[in-house]
Amino acid sequence: AAEIDRDGTSPEKLLSPVLSAFWDEPEPWTLETYRRHDGYEGLRKALAMSPDDLIAYVKDSGLRGRGGAGFPTGMKWQFIPQGDGKPHYLVVNADESEPGTCKDIPLLFANPHSLIEGIVIACYAIRSSHAFIYLRGEVVPVLRRLHEAVREAYEAGYLGANILGSGLDLELTVHAGAGAYICGEETALLDSLEGRRGQPRLRPPFPAVAGLYACPTVVNNVESIASVPAILNRGKDWFKSMGSEKSPGFTLYSLSGHVAGPGQYEAPLGITLRQLLYMSGGMRAGHRLKFWTPGGSSTPMFTDEHLDVPLDYEGVGAAGSMLGTKALQCFDETTCVVRAVTRWTEFYAHESCGKCTPCREGTYWLVQLLRDIEAGKGEMADLDKLNDIADNINGKSFCALGDGAASPIFSSLKYFREEYEQHVTGKGCPFDPARSTLWA
Ligand code: NAD
Repeated sequence: AAEIDRDGTSPEKLLSPVLSAFWDEPEPWTLETYRRHDGYEGLRKALAMSPDDLIAYVKDSGLRGRGGAGFPTGMKWQFIPQGDGKPHYLVVNADESEPGTCKDIPLLFANPHSLIEGIVIACYAIRSSHAFIYLRGEVVPVLRRLHEAVREAYEAGYLGANILGSGLDLELTVHAGAGAYICGEETALLDSLEGRRGQPRLRPPFPAVAGLYACPTVVNNVESIASVPAILNRGKDWFKSMGSEKSPGFTLYSLSGHVAGPGQYEAPLGITLRQLLYMSGGMRAGHRLKFWTPGGSSTPMFTDEHLDVPLDYEGVGAAGSMLGTKALQCFDETTCVVRAVTRWTEFYAHESCGKCTPCREGTYWLVQLLRDIEAGKGEMADLDKLNDIADNINGKSFCALGDGAASPIFSSLKYFREEYEQHVTGKGCPFDPARSTLWA
């Protein structure tokens, strides 16, 4: 914090609320509030362009997918073949469920019209007349709010036939999933939406070529699509003035764990965890950061040595992890890293869809080994075995779930091998309240 003070950077200057600009107002979710904040003005500007120019504009803005992978949004739209005679679909992935990830759900709850406006713009660009929102099914209050916002948008002429007199027709369907992590993987999501058991498909073909009902389909994250109206309304240069050259713009960072001020912080890409902690009140009183994830548990963990890593795709990548969903889970020195990794791995084992052997069997074996180590029944050879099993999952499973499960194993062994060894030599967890002075 002292260093930031010396730079004269005030906390306010670090923030760039756009999506979250009016979340604190009464009833920010209504169409009336949204319109008061220039809602649906981006759509008017988009409809004045040709679809091709619109795609080029979004491409030029440099917007990258906010679901985790950071794939350029405009480029994804451009992949949709034109004049192919097939229906095109837009599917919004709102099945947010990566551990620690909690940005799309609050965004949908507080500002659903930014997503709906973005959907209409995207559908105009890719020449689609039917869009779907695949929402994580457990969040029933969000589902209700979304239904209400869609109803409002139909009534006001932003959805349905001849939108704003442009000749664009668009139907929007909200679909609630049944609560499976794998259905956030885009092709499993499509299978689930088609009424089948959600399991990933082999890619290629990517959804842009053969997606929903084997037709060209854009699958975009909620935050990606919700960011589009502001880019149209305020201009791509305004968007590019924030963030870094290859990762421009604003984004939502979700701060959680042992921090004084958990929550959503909207800031330019490239901000650091040190700055985010500075503006949010730091770690909880009397404690220090031990390890953290830049983008949910599937991204390799960082330690307090990485506080100044720029939180954009290139910065986090260069430091050996991935920006992912920008879910910054912070753990202090009272946390047993083996226990944290065990809990995450149990999650991945439970959520493995079972389609491919490395993930189905590998995550099961990882859990067995980790539970043994945590309980003080592990052997030194188990540490290499963990690494070996993770190596046999990583890059060898059908989809990214397996890679995600392997990543906390690799990174925790890299930074905290000694702590694993202490569990073996001490025949138990050094953080166990009954054994540790930490809890005294
Ligand atoms: P990916 O890099 O394979 O693909 C990203 C997107 O780009 C996809 O939509 C894909 O269809 C498209 N794409 C990539 N190459 C393409 C090509 N050649 N042609 C056409 N389209 C192409 O990543 P992924 O496997 O889809 O997702 C992995 C990411 O998901 C991870 O970064 C992880 O952080 C994130 N994730 C997010 C959550 C969440 O809750 N939001 C949960 C788990 C994982």
